[in-house]
Amino acid sequence: MTKNDKRGANLKNKSRKKKAVALLSGGLDSNLAIRMIQDQGIDVEAVAIKTPFCDFDCGKGCGHRVKEVATELGIALKTIYFGEEYLQMLKNPKHGYGSGMNPCIDCRSMMYNAAKDHMENIGAEFIITGEVLGQRPMSQNKNALSIIESETGTKGVVVRPLSAKHLPITDPEKKGFIKRENLGYIKGRSRKEQIKLAEKYDINDPPNSAGGCLLTDPIFSKRIKDLYEHNITIPDINDVELLKIGRHFRISGEKKLIVGRNREENTVLEALAIKKDLKIIVKDYVGPTCIFRGKKPTKDEIIMCARIAVRYSDAPKNDYSIVKICGHAYENEFSVMPLDEYSIDNIRI
Ligand code: SF4
Repeated sequence: MTKNDKRGANLKNKSRKKKAVALLSGGLDSNLAIRMIQDQGIDVEAVAIKTPFCDFDCGKGCGHRVKEVATELGIALKTIYFGEEYLQMLKNPKHGYGSGMNPCIDCRSMMYNAAKDHMENIGAEFIITGEVLGQRPMSQNKNALSIIESETGTKGVVVRPLSAKHLPITDPEKKGFIKRENLGYIKGRSRKEQIKLAEKYDINDPPNSAGGCLLTDPIFSKRIKDLYEHNITIPDINDVELLKIGRHFRISGEKKLIVGRNREENTVLEALAIKKDLKIIVKDYVGPTCIFRGKKPTKDEIIMCARIAVRYSDAPKNDYSIVKICGHAYENEFSVMPLDEYSIDNIRI
């Protein structure tokens, strides 16, 4: 290579646009964070994370817009799904749970690792997130952010454009890739500053900040906690999908009954049933789809399930009805009365 060629290559490298990888949720904050960095002449690519508890179709104003937002921003999007490994982590998250079963610090660490891998793969210089200091109690405080960075080896390379001036200076600022004076000074749960920025960027109808993570939902948290407490093995995706619908009853130990609440849920329950499940069907009356899952039930347990199925069917409440129990290598019928409300409440999850 001649001197001139070398000089040419150096100039080319210098003028090559720097790249960053953003964790994109589809909510307003990550959208704004990306725009602030794009404004500084950085090429951005996004990584979006799906978990069994937070998907793009939840309709709660965040993830379902992720593809739309990436298109609006004109950036490439890589979607990563955390499945079994997420369920494994959820059993015993190193940093515990938030107000529900949300293991936010461990969850964010998994997300940071995914963003870091992508950053290394595409030769990007740093990571962007839409995190706002003090917005979420468990994962968006200085201590939690520092733990997540230490555990994922991302110290200094994560820029949170919305709150940057409240946080230590990052490597891309030190290296002059981005200017600190053009970054944000937002803190806390108020959305005022984000709404102003949304106006500046002409973002119509900005989504609210409500996340779609089921692990922060009190009712769902109770169900997932019960599942982990009673299952000897790590639950699988099918077990988790079942938790999202129906009424759930803990019959004993690892054994539970799920009862559909309407026609749609009955259809989903049918689709989620596995070979080892038992089906409980109220004969002669309209009734819900009921699935028994777990170890082999005793006769008393089968009768209890039959009585619950009758309770939620159109069968008379003061008379006996016939219930058919069928499943893998098992079929039987019982004549039972509906279970009383008190007993039902005692075993409902
Ligand atoms: S709210 Fe849910 S998706 Fe968000 S960091 Fe916490 S556990 Fe993860």
